[in-house]
Amino acid sequence: MTEKTIFKRIIDGEIPADVVFEDEHCLAFRDVNPQAPTHVLVIPKKEIASLDAVADEDAPLMGHLHRVIRDLARTLKLEEGYRVVVNCGPNGGQTVDHLHFHLLGGRPLSWPPG
Ligand code: AMP
Repeated sequence: MTEKTIFKRIIDGEIPADVVFEDEHCLAFRDVNPQAPTHVLVIPKKEIASLDAVADEDAPLMGHLHRVIRDLARTLKLEEGYRVVVNCGPNGGQTVDHLHFHLLGGRPLSWPPG
């Protein structure tokens, strides 16, 4: 059996997180190494390793996650705008093999990314 990812351990309540939202399908918590005044990670409770591992049947879940992100941005008062980032694979900078959406806001964000 492969080892649990750190995010699966958070879902299972084995390690603490600063949770800002939870429902039956997903969990949102503050990133421990924030890159902006607001930096929240939104993750599905279903174990999906990356965006590349999303199945066609996950489309409703992906839609749900985006609705949650939209609502969180409002709750967290990111009315000036925000960025949603999914790092995928080594070249994408993914370090945790559990699909996660970075919700970043609270300052102007430059483009292009590094
Ligand atoms: P990525 O590089 O896209 O895979 O993003 C992984 C993110 O998870 C990074 O921004 C880390 O700071 C964050 N992270 C790692 N461990 C934890 C944790 N225990 N609680 C909250 N965020 C974490």
